[in-house]
Amino acid sequence: MAERQIAGRSASPGFACGSVHRLAGGGRERVPTGDPAREAAALSDAIGRAMADIESLAEKTGGDAADMLAFQAALLGDDELSRPAFDAVAAGASADKAWSTALSSEISGYLASDDEYFQARSADLEDLRDRVLTILSGGEADVVPPGAVVVGEDMPPSKFLSIDWHAGGAIVLAAGSKTSHVAMLARSRGVPMVVAAGPAIVSASGEALVDGAAGTVVLDPEPATRDSFESRRLVEEAALREAAAVLPAPAATRDGTTVTVLINVADPGELKSVDPAHCDGIGLVRTEFLFHGRGSLPGEEAQFGVYRTIAEWAQGRPVTIRTLDAGGDKPIPGLTIDGESNPFLGVRGIRLSLARPEVFRVQLRALLRAGVYGQVKVMLPMVTVPGELEAARAMLVEEHDALVAAGRKVVMPPLGIMVEVPATALAVDRFDAAFYSIGSNDLTQYATAAGRDIGAVADLADPLHPGVLGMIEHVAAYGAASGLDVSLCGDAGGDPDVLPALLEAGLRTVSVAPAALGRTKLAIRAIDLASGAGDAA
Ligand code: PEP
Ligand code: MG
Repeated sequence: MAERQIAGRSASPGFACGSVHRLAGGGRERVPTGDPAREAAALSDAIGRAMADIESLAEKTGGDAADMLAFQAALLGDDELSRPAFDAVAAGASADKAWSTALSSEISGYLASDDEYFQARSADLEDLRDRVLTILSGGEADVVPPGAVVVGEDMPPSKFLSIDWHAGGAIVLAAGSKTSHVAMLARSRGVPMVVAAGPAIVSASGEALVDGAAGTVVLDPEPATRDSFESRRLVEEAALREAAAVLPAPAATRDGTTVTVLINVADPGELKSVDPAHCDGIGLVRTEFLFHGRGSLPGEEAQFGVYRTIAEWAQGRPVTIRTLDAGGDKPIPGLTIDGESNPFLGVRGIRLSLARPEVFRVQLRALLRAGVYGQVKVMLPMVTVPGELEAARAMLVEEHDALVAAGRKVVMPPLGIMVEVPATALAVDRFDAAFYSIGSNDLTQYATAAGRDIGAVADLADPLHPGVLGMIEHVAAYGAASGLDVSLCGDAGGDPDVLPALLEAGLRTVSVAPAALGRTKLAIRAIDLASGAGDAA
């Protein structure tokens, strides 16, 4: 095949070279046959195929991952696990409903156990449940080989989280945008990603070189292209080493202004590769990812366990945990509202939590309990009117008092809000919050009327737009006058091209993707606020 060059847009920097893997189309809604014998055969076939997939994945991986997969295969092969599902099918249930119900009840049993080992194994059962359900609904159980360049039309965040990126790899999407949630995840994990690469990429095959920062892809490269790619990769490696060298030092501008640099956590697994001493704490935990790819919502114990682990990881540094921000481009089956004409303007974030108090209160209880293990702060997303903050506060107080009455150990956390709705930014002084964090991703899309997931308007969704910067300046000024903490946790904080304007606007705290921590500290060093020039000398 002759070499082909494809130009898209950068969504996450980094270089990758690997075999192309085309993303499967994903599952469809399954239509049950209505015949118990055929449903039983479908279930048995799906279990068999899931088992074969797990075994082939175990062969390719090795190490701890292979042990984990061998354990999953043994679980799946145990007739005791599937018996309740086959009984339900014999009684007339569809294969998918029967499997989902049987596994969900088993998972609840594991989670309720006092034994931590059993609690931890519930994640394996969730994986098995979802793997079999995917096959039943007609989606291939798409197994991405380690180090692959994954190509597709678009990619949901749950798919990203199901791929093992330890061996490298990259993402190239025909559509997509830099500010989508999957792009944000890619930047957090340091996975190179190119979006808006055009429809031809979907049918690519062979080998690909991906330059995430340039937004380019080369298919079936010639030796000379490969050599120049390798030289650029070495230059980037040197830049990464330079960024890594400044990690242990606190961040300060050239004129000596201290800047607090926190990290954003989208998945607790990311923390394994971060030294807590390299940051000033966690400015945003996006808890919606705990709710992804599951047939049921996580219970109080499961949430408490995760929040506690994160709080302990920070070793006394502040940890801001955001309550569920489902909706928009982060749908959660069984929770968010299907069929909204514009989900970004719909029942999203705090709006959804207040509409589903039985789900929200579980999260509040888990957060109150986790506060015993670290400096936990609670943040509400998408707050538009003060009444939402007050309604959430009332529930937090009620759950606090109920837990205390039941003899549980709890700590009442400071309650803050995201400032990501333009009306909230402009009227920030009306909100009685303990702290404010600017969500520049949403603030920018709402202020510029340019959807964060729509590549065609990506140039308009610019945080440097004077209208957006004006709102940031207004919120920062309110923080300075009131003495209340104001930070920014959108992706703009980790963008060296935007950072100077943010500091000029008065911000002194940013929260960035873990992979951007060193780069951000390096960029801060180059900024001179005294001369009013944000450029390096
Ligand atoms: C934001 O909107 O900037 C933000 C940090 O929240 P999210 O990206 O999760 O919507
Ligand atoms: Mg947001």
